[in-house]
Amino acid sequence: VAMSSITVPPPKCLQKTFVAPRRHMFGPGPSNVPPRILAAGAEPIIGHMHPEMLEIMSDIKSGIQYAFQTQNNMTIAVSGTGHTAMECAIFNAVEPGEGVLTAVNGIWGERAAEMALAKHKPVLFFLTHGESSTGVVHPLDGIGDICHKHNCLFLVDCVASMGGAPLHMDKQGIDILYSGSQKVLNAPPGTAPISFSERACQKVFNRKTKPVSFFLDMTWLANYWGCDGKPARIYHHTAPVSAFYSLRESLAILAEQGLENSWQRHKEVAEYFHEGLENMGLKLFVKDKNARLPTVTTIVSPPGYDWKEITSYIMKNHNLEISGGLGPSVGQVLRVGLMGGNSSKASVDMVLEALRDALRYCHKSKV
Ligand code: PMP
Repeated sequence: VAMSSITVPPPKCLQKTFVAPRRHMFGPGPSNVPPRILAAGAEPIIGHMHPEMLEIMSDIKSGIQYAFQTQNNMTIAVSGTGHTAMECAIFNAVEPGEGVLTAVNGIWGERAAEMALAKHKPVLFFLTHGESSTGVVHPLDGIGDICHKHNCLFLVDCVASMGGAPLHMDKQGIDILYSGSQKVLNAPPGTAPISFSERACQKVFNRKTKPVSFFLDMTWLANYWGCDGKPARIYHHTAPVSAFYSLRESLAILAEQGLENSWQRHKEVAEYFHEGLENMGLKLFVKDKNARLPTVTTIVSPPGYDWKEITSYIMKNHNLEISGGLGPSVGQVLRVGLMGGNSSKASVDMVLEALRDALRYCHKSKV
């Protein structure tokens, strides 16, 4: 009998077929992926440098320029999630010893930003447009001008807001803007749009030191995405081909629907949702109506209830995901994301019904 060289046997668990459960993905992301985008991702694989692939990448670039409202040539999708794009922005724009200023919470006064910029002389100011942990949308007008006056780049995270709340990269003087695929775009997680202004490119491509990441080095990525004006594309990494098919389709759907229509629908659906919540006696975490993020709603955790029991009950009995807080908002809020195709009155009615049911059946403490 021939001795096998195998010491680790084939895992039994892999003999079972996996079928993903059908769920209403109404947490802060990922959102449900519509059949059209799933189908695009199921197309056969072609080479990452084949002409058709380069054309898809060019289409993606145009789609992101539209979604971001920018003419920036340096517009690509990174192969990775929102965090990858965040690292791409910071790793490329900042050199050792340079300062970065970050707006950590709530609504920032423009004056406070100006004082901090003058004092600390950061090269980059980071702001999250749609704070998915608190449910706040931050105003962007005027901040870019202040940054530029202080020779600072304006970096904005629109992972949770792009397509769901008004955003104009060029008009608002944003130098680096990034997003994610799995929220309003309704594409699978794993690709992340990012764009660099001319001002940002001046800094990124005149570094004295190399970025800490090879994978996210914009000199390489700019060539791979055909943004550097050079005739030859050089292999950098094997792009996630299927994920790019899906991303392209998701951007095509956004372009078909129209950005302004999408912003308007998210706003109207969010308002309808908020009214329904208040009619049920629930309280919204963000008091200022204008500061409410239309994509992710934060509800004050109902007093006397255990928020975990509510989210578990709704998952078990309604096949529907909503989530608890994140970071500073843990224990304080329930978060509901209605993004892209999930932003509809029908989804709102489903969530309200699930919440009503949970509040009836979950344990309420006597204290
Ligand atoms: N920024 C914001 C505002 C987000 O909501 C998220 C995802 N929840 C991220 C960044 C990170 O994105 P990812 O999970 O795709 O890495």
